[in-house]
Amino acid sequence: MRSEPPALCRADSPSSLFSRLYLHIPWCLRKCDYCAFFSATGTTARYEETVNLLLREMELAAARYTGERLASIYLGGGTPSLLTPKQVNRLLERSQQLWGHQHDIEITLEANPGTVTDRLLSDFKQAGVNRISLGIQSFEDRALAVLGRAHSAQDAREAYAAAREASFRSIGLDLICGLPGQSCVDWHDQIKQALLLSPDHLSIYGLSIEEGTPFGRRYQADSPELPDDDQQAEMLEMTDRLLIAAGYEHYEIANFARPGHRSRHNCGYWQRDGYLGLGPSAHSLLLQGWGLRCCNPANYQKWASQVTDGRLSHQESEQLSAKQALAEQIFLGLRMTEGIAPEACLRQFGTALWAPHERAIDELFALGLLERRRGRIALTRRGMMLANQVFVRFI
Ligand code: SF4
Repeated sequence: MRSEPPALCRADSPSSLFSRLYLHIPWCLRKCDYCAFFSATGTTARYEETVNLLLREMELAAARYTGERLASIYLGGGTPSLLTPKQVNRLLERSQQLWGHQHDIEITLEANPGTVTDRLLSDFKQAGVNRISLGIQSFEDRALAVLGRAHSAQDAREAYAAAREASFRSIGLDLICGLPGQSCVDWHDQIKQALLLSPDHLSIYGLSIEEGTPFGRRYQADSPELPDDDQQAEMLEMTDRLLIAAGYEHYEIANFARPGHRSRHNCGYWQRDGYLGLGPSAHSLLLQGWGLRCCNPANYQKWASQVTDGRLSHQESEQLSAKQALAEQIFLGLRMTEGIAPEACLRQFGTALWAPHERAIDELFALGLLERRRGRIALTRRGMMLANQVFVRFI
């Protein structure tokens, strides 16, 4: 049976390929020892050059792809808070001119403590940012030093207080768990310290040892200095318990939010909304056919020269088949606590494509990794801890 390209677009215009915009700012004050993101140290001249290139890339993208009014913009990196509020405002204004903004648009800026002051945060708000995501990572100076972070725990508290003072609609914190030498008692203390600040959103990432980083050279994945699987499971279980008791909803594997404070932009990724990613290494999902995935080169010079030459710098693009789109819909949807709606998948993709997944789902039910909730299929608590083992069954 041949699968026709679907009415996949959730956009209000049938030709609209995206409603979300990601801008990658690849510069940081210094490179953290665990970091495998595309980022490097830069200069103020480089920041300005990047903004000008992003403005040009926006124009090239607008000429080639139809977008609708933007529902969210995310300035990530790197450390976007190294830009000036004026530079951020230029990016936001241009996006408004090219695509328009929905009246309740969410505009997030990733900020690192040590790069922001009361004044700066208040100016970012004036520039149009309404959500701040603070990369705190730890409330312990020793741990921050091990991670190679460029800020102290006191910087983190001051940045949080400044963000509150500036009255952003939403403030999120990122923390890393499973650090070298970290015990469950230490982690309990980290969560308690985060709760004292009462953030609107918390992202909790397990430390991942990445090849090619100083951490990758320093630690093996099973290094005795790192918490073992049982300790990590206990930390995650403790996180869940403490945050839910404090009124947060665990809405995605690594994310917790107070009611009304989910990251709408990131929810768009998990729901397969169309998004346009600009800047070096940025990824896009354009709602063309079953989905067109594109990725910019993870090389600043290459990206910059292509944009300067007036070319969109999508280095790789892949037109997805219906089978691939369904697999994505399942494993991305399962990341969220709501899980997936099997009837909707069946309707959209047809029996021939859905049936093999039904078998995998039955096996995962039997293993206690998936469960049925209100007519939907979702990860169990255990499934959340072993999510990667679940996801590979759908690829
Ligand atoms: S601040 Fe973030 S992006 Fe920059 S080096 Fe550290 S972890 Fe990587």
